[in-house]
Amino acid sequence: MYQAPRGTADILPEDQRYWSYVAAVAAEAAHTSGYSRIDTPVFEDTGLFKRTVGEETDIVQKEMYSFEDRGGQEVTLRPEGTAAVCRAYLEHGLHNQAQPVRLFYLSPMFRYDRPQAGRYRQFHQFGAEAIGDAGAAVDLEMIQLAMSMLDRLGLSGMTLVLNNIGDAADRPAYVEALREHFRPHLAHLGPDDRRRFDTSPLRLLDSKELAGEAFMDDAPRSTDYLGAEASAHWEELVGYLDALGVPYRLDHKLVRGLDYYTRTVFEVHPDEGGAQSAVCAGGRYDGLIEQLGGAPTPGIGFAAGIERIIANLRQQEVGVPEVRPHPAVIAYRGAAAKAAAVALATELRAGGHAAVVAPERSLKAQMRYASSIGAPTVLILGEAELAKGVVTVRDMATAEQREVRRADVGTALPRP
Ligand code: ATP
Ligand code: MG
Repeated sequence: MYQAPRGTADILPEDQRYWSYVAAVAAEAAHTSGYSRIDTPVFEDTGLFKRTVGEETDIVQKEMYSFEDRGGQEVTLRPEGTAAVCRAYLEHGLHNQAQPVRLFYLSPMFRYDRPQAGRYRQFHQFGAEAIGDAGAAVDLEMIQLAMSMLDRLGLSGMTLVLNNIGDAADRPAYVEALREHFRPHLAHLGPDDRRRFDTSPLRLLDSKELAGEAFMDDAPRSTDYLGAEASAHWEELVGYLDALGVPYRLDHKLVRGLDYYTRTVFEVHPDEGGAQSAVCAGGRYDGLIEQLGGAPTPGIGFAAGIERIIANLRQQEVGVPEVRPHPAVIAYRGAAAKAAAVALATELRAGGHAAVVAPERSLKAQMRYASSIGAPTVLILGEAELAKGVVTVRDMATAEQREVRRADVGTALPRP
């Protein structure tokens, strides 16, 4: 029999409450910070991601679902949200609106990752982007949005990890310092890291293979290579965080795996987390819009992995409201009663009540059905009820039964 493709998952009815909850709370957090929802297509021109995410990144090198469509267009299933949102920002002239433009999304993403706990090939991100304001107050706002979303969800033990990788102009000197540092260790580097040494040495800091090596600890720090403007921006952000008592941990090895980042980069990790632990990740991307053909325009954003958030909700046993429907079940005995049951269900649904007709079985089996789907109420129609013009209303929690006039059944049900 067919199975869902490796690295994908069905979201079954019993899991939906987590998804509704996260979507609602995340949207509420975003709205509170002034962010409006945007949805972009699930696929885009392949070039959009190659150009922005970066040719040398894991995403572009090994993770994209790219194909030529029947018309010969090279398209890619969206691996991340920022490039698509920036494309839409330019395409629809959002740069003509008051800046910054604050946008959020909640969308499926596709990456040919190695499936394991917390890592899938189709996964979902809630993300936010603020485009058109270079100020450090917006960096703070973005970090606060990520943290407040997790807090509103009821999650605890989330640590903000922060770094600043400087502007494009600060990069050459830092890259040179990194190469100098890593050159004596070239023999230790595997083929991927060897390539990173040549093409994007910052990414060596992020290398999973080198994570335990002693020479990683005293690698040069990007914050020692910031130009005057990036430095002032960084001081301002850290000043806000300190003044507001926002806890954070500086991590000089945090560089992020996408090319477009500048200045502030951050991640949020649960205190009890393994390797696949980051729930949110983001940063500033002041060169991205220009790279897409727009005027120089600063931007900052983050994305949170919904599957990882849900794993944390489960692990921390956060109470999440039910969303499964609990219709009243209409049980019946006999053909005449069945017709009356169908009519009653129709009427109740039109009146806004959730109601289903029990499957054609013995009355006893119909009651079992009602109890197994969690029906709060069973409405029983038999010959006696039909003759009297009433319905027997059974409260499933208390097993109490009472007769209610047919016309009054709606008012006897719990309000929808
Ligand atoms: P990693 O280094 O773990 O591969 P990443 O840098 O590729 O992470 P981002 O591109 O920053 O991840 O994505 C932001 C968030 O999206 C991550 O922090 C994580 O919560 C989630 N995420 C990324 N890739 C996956 C995946 N394959 N499956 C599930 N969630 C993911
Ligand atoms: Mg990845």
